[in-house]
Amino acid sequence: MSWEPVIGLEVHARLLTQTKIFCGCSTAFGAPPNTHVCPVCLGYPGALPVLNRKAVDLAMRVALATGCEIHPQSVFARKNYFYPDLPKGYQISQFDRPLATNGSVEIGGKTIRIHRIHMEEDAGKLLHDAAVTRVDLNRAGTPLVEIVSEPDIRSSEEAAAYFSRLRQILMFVDACDGNMEEGSLRCDANVSVHRSGEPLGTRTEVKNVNSFRYVARAIEHEIERQISVLESGGAIVQETRLYDPAADETRPMRSKEEAHDYRYFPEPDLLTLEVDEAWVGSVRAVLPPLPSARSKRYQSEWNIPAIDADAIVATRELAEYFEATAEASGQPRLAANWVRNEVLRVLNDRRIDLSDYVVTPEMLAKLIGLVESGAIGGKSAKEVFEEMSTTGDAPALIVERRGLAQISDPSAIRVAAERVLEANRVQAEQYRAGKAQVFGFLVGQLMKETRGKAKADLANEILRELLDRA
Ligand SMILES: [Zn+2]
Repeated sequence: MSWEPVIGLEVHARLLTQTKIFCGCSTAFGAPPNTHVCPVCLGYPGALPVLNRKAVDLAMRVALATGCEIHPQSVFARKNYFYPDLPKGYQISQFDRPLATNGSVEIGGKTIRIHRIHMEEDAGKLLHDAAVTRVDLNRAGTPLVEIVSEPDIRSSEEAAAYFSRLRQILMFVDACDGNMEEGSLRCDANVSVHRSGEPLGTRTEVKNVNSFRYVARAIEHEIERQISVLESGGAIVQETRLYDPAADETRPMRSKEEAHDYRYFPEPDLLTLEVDEAWVGSVRAVLPPLPSARSKRYQSEWNIPAIDADAIVATRELAEYFEATAEASGQPRLAANWVRNEVLRVLNDRRIDLSDYVVTPEMLAKLIGLVESGAIGGKSAKEVFEEMSTTGDAPALIVERRGLAQISDPSAIRVAAERVLEANRVQAEQYRAGKAQVFGFLVGQLMKETRGKAKADLANEILRELLDRA
């Protein structure tokens, strides 16, 4: 019987507050070391923490967006351990009474349950170089939520999909910027393997899977390592392992602590966090629509295929760009095609963010309008789009500059069609004698005569009329 992996993820997300969770210091990333610090986040004796209400707002957004139940009362606790980047000698976290529990996230039709979401403060950062290790405490006291899943994940691919979905949700509700390089989102994985029907195996915790593409690889390696240990008659030791991306392997870091090792006790300097219905309601009222809800709306209201709708809600910026284009043009399906195919292609090719893209939804809507009104043809529209994407010029200006306007004046097309029939008498006679396939050739000649600018349906109609008349 084959081995079945059992995986749970603990995701730490930095909340997008201006200031730290228990003091007024800035949370801005990249400041000179130890400039965003004060007696509270430096852990001076006697300095007292004051809870940042905005951090609670954002943590509640995450809880609501993942369908969790928010508890009317939750309790901050001290998690005691020594580490050089933790000046107080303890971290303020939540232990047996977390902010929220019992949520879930959908990935490709499967539900991954969320066990709990709690709030805590981040530690500082150690900077190692050859000679010395320095500590930067700018990050100490930055608000985090820890999102703990149930062990519902069964493969490294599912783990990556869950992590990615969580990141998408966090970014949609403006709770976290999702920036993995700056450490705004970090992930630890609890991994064990067992044969199905048998009791669960001993689990290890894999740390340092903080880059998106490493999540699946690190877990995959750990699964393979455990299987090979077990198949050669060994036993898995409960421990914390570190993923090393350079060597592409996990290795032991420390034996896994149990909760009692941390000597948790309620934080005496903070009150019980009380969240009433009105507070939850006020957070719910400003919660932006989630990706799944947006995708469903595009499908039902605008008849957009599911695959396109899901691609468009990849990020909130893209979804909002699309919605603005759809509304300004009044053509949601065409807007979806342009955004899904052309806009995404340009952003990928040029490796730019939507926020740096020169084509606004209003400009794209104008281009769609030019095609719809027959002012330009589909092929010219692509040309105009490319130029808009480079110069940022208005579509009408580009159409004029490049002489791309379609000929939609029937008398002008008629004159050109008469010239074409005059020059191609043989083919015209063949058509009249019943050789229908010559028509395509004659249309081609007419398009050539008008340098591709005759409006296609008019060109067909007029040519056929002239041929049938004679
Ligand atoms: Zn501070």
